[in-house]
Amino acid sequence: MFFIGCHLSSSKGFAAMGRTALEIGANTFQFFTRNPRGSQAKSLDLQDVQALRTLLKEHHFGPLIAHAPYTLNPASADPKTRDFALQTLADDLQRLEHLPGNLYNFHPGSHVGQGAPTGIRLIIQALNEILTPGLHTTVLLETMAGKGSEIGRSFDELKQILDGVRLNAQLGVCLDTCHVHDAGYSLEALDQTLNEFDKQIGLKKLRAVHLNDSLNPRGAHKDRHAPIGQGHIGTDTLARVINHPALQGLPFCLETPNDLPGYAREIALLRSLYHGK
Ligand code: FE
Ligand code: FE
Ligand code: ZN
Repeated sequence: MFFIGCHLSSSKGFAAMGRTALEIGANTFQFFTRNPRGSQAKSLDLQDVQALRTLLKEHHFGPLIAHAPYTLNPASADPKTRDFALQTLADDLQRLEHLPGNLYNFHPGSHVGQGAPTGIRLIIQALNEILTPGLHTTVLLETMAGKGSEIGRSFDELKQILDGVRLNAQLGVCLDTCHVHDAGYSLEALDQTLNEFDKQIGLKKLRAVHLNDSLNPRGAHKDRHAPIGQGHIGTDTLARVINHPALQGLPFCLETPNDLPGYAREIALLRSLYHGK
């Protein structure tokens, strides 16, 4: 199955996102669990969630990606900031139990000058607190561009986090094409990059792909997304990503700067470039 979709606004609720996804030809999507800057989440409308679950089943959607607010920093030097990240992640996971079987993606964090080893240790600590046996959500660490003091700029850093977490069967990785390119990995040499991922982390841990072009050359550590074909990665390379045998069945999610008609066009383009069914 080819699961392709994009980031959608959750402002009109859950079922509305499902309907929008159908309108633009998507069979997966991503949404922020709350305001991306991390404020209080709206209380859940369980009827609305149930309506989405029905729609997803009827239309054979792939796994959805719930995205944590990107301002959370479980690796902060400030205990209050760390605690806020922990409470928010735990609360999101609780809420996602109403939408079982999906993915919860978060940016591992920034060590803000404490050094990567300390940042990694703090992220492990947070995950060991929030993961509980029996969760119906897989928590994904996103590969990061390495902007500022971001953790997760290399497969090795992600591997270290996975190794430190007790319940790491509930953990996976979301590969963002713009971020890995900006971190210095070559998507043109896709086999080599995926081999390296496999050696360090194991490809079975790869559970989702963010499909973005990048405004900047490889290794720039900038994290500026570009529409498909309008950046330094290019359409041909991204077409090879969606067709790679090791990535079949994963949800591919666009986070390109776009309005809905733009997303519909990119989804149609990628469907036309996809060789399988
Ligand atoms: Fe992200
Ligand atoms: Fe991303
Ligand atoms: Zn990004």
